[in-house]
Amino acid sequence: MVSKKETAQRHPADIPVTTLKGVGPAVAAKLERLNITTAEDLLFHLPFRYEDQTKRTLIADLRPDGEGVVEGQAISSQVQFGRRRSLLVTIEDETGRLPVRFFHFNRSQQAQFDANPRVRCYGRIRKGPRGLEMIHPQYDRNPKASLPDTLTPVYSVVEGLGQAKMQSLVRQALAIPGLEAAFKPLLKNRPAADLWAALTMLHSPPAEEDLAAIQRGEHPTQRLLAFEELTAYQLGMMLWHRETQAEPSRPLECPAPMFDAFIARLPFNLTGAQTRVVNEIFHDLRQPSPALRLIQGDVGAGKTVVAALAALAAMASGTQVALMAPTELLAEQHFETLANWFEPLGFHVGWLSGSVKGKARDKVLAQLETNQIHFLVGTHALFQSQVEFAQLGLVLIDEQHRFGVAQRHALFEKGQDQFRPHQLIFSATPIPRTLSMTLYAGVNASVIDERPPGRTPITTRVMASERREAVIDRLAEACAEGAQAYWVCPSIDSEDGQLVSATFTHQHLSKRLADHSVGLVHGRMSSQEKQTVMREFKEGKISVLVSTTVIEVGVDVPNAILMIIENAERFGLTQIHQLRGRVGRGDQASACILLYESPLGKTGKRRLGVLRDSIDGFYIAEQDLEMRGPGDMLGRDQSGEVLFKLADLTRDADLLTEAHEAASELLAEPSEHQQALLNRWLDFPPMKLQA
Ligand code: ADP
Ligand code: MG
Repeated sequence: MVSKKETAQRHPADIPVTTLKGVGPAVAAKLERLNITTAEDLLFHLPFRYEDQTKRTLIADLRPDGEGVVEGQAISSQVQFGRRRSLLVTIEDETGRLPVRFFHFNRSQQAQFDANPRVRCYGRIRKGPRGLEMIHPQYDRNPKASLPDTLTPVYSVVEGLGQAKMQSLVRQALAIPGLEAAFKPLLKNRPAADLWAALTMLHSPPAEEDLAAIQRGEHPTQRLLAFEELTAYQLGMMLWHRETQAEPSRPLECPAPMFDAFIARLPFNLTGAQTRVVNEIFHDLRQPSPALRLIQGDVGAGKTVVAALAALAAMASGTQVALMAPTELLAEQHFETLANWFEPLGFHVGWLSGSVKGKARDKVLAQLETNQIHFLVGTHALFQSQVEFAQLGLVLIDEQHRFGVAQRHALFEKGQDQFRPHQLIFSATPIPRTLSMTLYAGVNASVIDERPPGRTPITTRVMASERREAVIDRLAEACAEGAQAYWVCPSIDSEDGQLVSATFTHQHLSKRLADHSVGLVHGRMSSQEKQTVMREFKEGKISVLVSTTVIEVGVDVPNAILMIIENAERFGLTQIHQLRGRVGRGDQASACILLYESPLGKTGKRRLGVLRDSIDGFYIAEQDLEMRGPGDMLGRDQSGEVLFKLADLTRDADLLTEAHEAASELLAEPSEHQQALLNRWLDFPPMKLQA
């Protein structure tokens, strides 16, 4: 048995953040919101962008639309009342004067500038009403220290845990002695990066590194790491596949009368694609070895009913079914639908999540063991060790990309006897077919590639952000008629000044739509807070939901018929397509408005045009691959859809085939490298995979 503890003297996964200086319970709780509990998590919490504060620029040399460090004397300050109140401070150096504009400021700050101090400012330069100006700068009064010699990392952080704190925590983690050993390159016979050196570089790149390449994730080091990660992922898939095949499972069959009774109660007919996929699944389930199939289908393609039919086959054959969804809200939605469908047929549907506790929980567990619950629906609470099934025949996993391999594995182990459950995994992430074959490494895949009929398609419009106020007027009318809407922003707050922020938009819309309730949800809220807001939106208590990209895949709010997306030019096409899938779920006409920051280049226009002209997720994913945009940088951290730590399927698609070869080689000759690779990238349970 090889465990993390034994292979390395010290593994950063075994070092809790609480052992770092300055991390008490309060800071630890904040870090946990970012899913950071160990030194390893910190090391992999990579900056989402960098600032170059290594060089001072003379005011005369400033160019618009860049960022820069300026140092000089504050010679005047004045509050201006324009569309937004701002504080304008004029800085003078030996080459000229520069107006510097603050939007968030208080009296004492203003007073500081009245003392005409020497200041160093870092911020974005833009064309103002009278020449160049700097906006939203970070600043330092009476700067003494010299400029940094590495680029400054910018991390995703949470309320009350700022950049400076995060930077110091990462520095501490990098300085823990003896960790390097756990980060040796793991691929033999291939070019490989030293993960330790790479992480060090990515957290504080020397100024001479190619920053543009790093930001795009195309630095040679990043590509080598992406290669290693893709290899690990495919190896995991291969092992999973092989192990699955090695053990028996009960063949499951859905008797025709049962099938017909179920179909007869549905308010719709299955689409051709649904029927085809159900048949593919039924074929798998009849085998005496466990099915392992991935079912891909665009948002709204109707995956739930397909999952339900598979469940029907299992229950009709006398076995139990487990369905696991990534969030409580999604799981709850499934529970309601499935209980509605199955209780009338005499199958009992149970519910289990982290919030089911005490007696209620004991009851569920007891009913499960005695086969009184036929279908258990819930969150990751399902794979806790106390959960035991009498006869688990089928495991259904919704929105698979959110679960680690380890969790899937834990459910697979829940078969009571020598039999293993069949497994079906549902995903709305449209991975182009050309990639999925390789990525899933022999795991079968089905695609539901047809939309249910009778749905009014979403109209998508592309507009410059200058038309925002007109859009708000239209939104007000829609709300007055009882409709609901999503307003999606790329950033949480405007600390950054480059992207439209959710908090600012929330304030603005609350004022503009005073008669309606405007809600806010973003990644810095606890999952409890997020669920509460989402639930209120679902119940219609909130008319307009302002959010970052955290709004969940698959949440059904039929009354939400309008979605506005800010800075659309900065998102991946696939991501926007997934976002807009949250509208158009009812029978009313729906619209999605993509606001972009002008001017928009030619490629930018073409990219957004793809979304305007197509609603085919697979086509869009392919176009996304062809016309890579800077958008790939955005939202990775915020979306919560973490398939990979570093790799990006769009960007690193060209590495897949070779990674597949590397994984096959590793599979053929098991070594400690194999295990270490899985531990590093997939958190694979160590004991289970010893060949
Ligand atoms: P997803 O694939 O995103 O999980 P769902 O299963 O939630 O999609 O289905 C979206 C909506 O479409 C649901 O309201 C569902 O009842 C409906 N639906 C599913 N299949 C069909 C069909 N064949 N005809 C009409 N409506 C359907
Ligand atoms: Mg779904």
